[in-house]
Amino acid sequence: MEYKKKIDEYLQLQGHKALQLRAVLFDMDGVLFDSMPYHAEAWSQVMTDAGYNFSKEDVYMNEGRTGADTINTASIAQFGHPSTPEQIEALCKAKCEIFATYPPTPRMKGALELVSKVKACGLTPMIVTGSGTPTLLDKIESNFPDIFDKGHIVTSFNVKRGKPYPDPYLLALEKGGLQPHEAIVVENAPLGVTAGVAAGLFTIAANTGPLKESVLVQAGASLVFPSIQALCDEWEKLYKATR
Ligand code: MG
Repeated sequence: MEYKKKIDEYLQLQGHKALQLRAVLFDMDGVLFDSMPYHAEAWSQVMTDAGYNFSKEDVYMNEGRTGADTINTASIAQFGHPSTPEQIEALCKAKCEIFATYPPTPRMKGALELVSKVKACGLTPMIVTGSGTPTLLDKIESNFPDIFDKGHIVTSFNVKRGKPYPDPYLLALEKGGLQPHEAIVVENAPLGVTAGVAAGLFTIAANTGPLKESVLVQAGASLVFPSIQALCDEWEKLYKATR
């Protein structure tokens, strides 16, 4: 009932008659991969070393932004001006170097089962991420074999403006030949939720990090699950409510 009610609220607000699901747009870090603890550690270390006041919680609050946008936002807030391209490049490089020393990021618990269920329903699973690591496509394919089509993945290489702008989700709709009422978003980060909602999509959050659930609700999430496993366990009920 709860699902149906939230879907109806969305439909009314957006002026659609019904959800006609054809695709599910998954964020990557903190949704498909349990990678956020590593990102939080690496970013907070690099930024602190460079003289920023930047905690792990700040990393979670900025999650979804591109690296350059994360650095610029902090620079403007703390020093009153954006960073130079050289500073951005150096910090991104330092972050990647630290990140590369960590063990491979594990799949999020329940993620493979969830995307497999989505696919078994005849829906197209897509990925919309602010990440831009060169090995990203290989990592996706080895962890989620034969699930995601390369043409259905949006990365930071594909858009000028990352989340919280709607651009990555709008591009995903374009790549998938989809209307907003034909897809839903699965996100874990407040800025990712903001981006999904701004693109006109029904947006679900899984709170896989340390932030309060209310942060995701305030960002506009229609539903918040405590984990990806919990969303996976509820998938059949949720999918039924969309039909
Ligand atoms: Mg995420």
